[in-house]
Amino acid sequence: MVITIDGPAGAGKSTVGRELAKSLGFTYLDTGAMYRAVALAALKSSVSIDDANGLDTLCPGLVIKFSGSRILLNGKDITEDIRTPLMDRLSSAVSAVPVVRTHLTRLQREMARGIDLVAEGRDMGTVVFPHAEFKFFLTASPEERARRRKGDIERKGIDMPFEEILAAIRARDAADSNRPVAPLRPAEDAVLVDSSELNISQVIELMTRHVKNRMRASTISP
Ligand code: C5P
Repeated sequence: MVITIDGPAGAGKSTVGRELAKSLGFTYLDTGAMYRAVALAALKSSVSIDDANGLDTLCPGLVIKFSGSRILLNGKDITEDIRTPLMDRLSSAVSAVPVVRTHLTRLQREMARGIDLVAEGRDMGTVVFPHAEFKFFLTASPEERARRRKGDIERKGIDMPFEEILAAIRARDAADSNRPVAPLRPAEDAVLVDSSELNISQVIELMTRHVKNRMRASTISP
């Protein structure tokens, strides 16, 4: 069974996805981390984000794996390296390149084979797993997402003005929503959850309740 959670940056998808997967005993798949891994690999190999042929050659040689909450690129733990403002921008740019999406979509479907999964990203319910049993679209106002992001960044010792973070969030929303391939948008059958006024535990509870109620009603078993 696949549960998808899509939505813009900073809506809380990762925390919620991880907890929902834990409470259901499912595997959690952070597909944003996979786009970040490709962006980091391109940076390290000096392949430009505009160079579709270079990215097409680069992608098949990359081994992207998860180990618990860590992500490994060619065997090296890159979990921290991919969480920087630069990687926010580069991953968004690389994710608009069709050959990268084709490659990662294939890999994500392979990773889902034979297991129960909570998959989080931008196009999980629309493109990668259109037949998922449950689809959520988690959002929050740009201001609330920027506030949360500022907290995350500060915990890493990086000081960035709120206005700058808000502008970066708006720019990434626009880029993710307006790209021609797999733009960010809710699947028609997704349940919309606005987390602006809810804390993370309330969102997790709401989504877990929704999944469990529907499983019970339709006697779907995980
Ligand atoms: O979710 P996260 O912020 O880590 O994702 C990084 C970038 O990867 C996003 O800005 C988005 O452009 C891209 N992405 C995507 N499709 C996904 C997951 C992430 O295009 N399924």
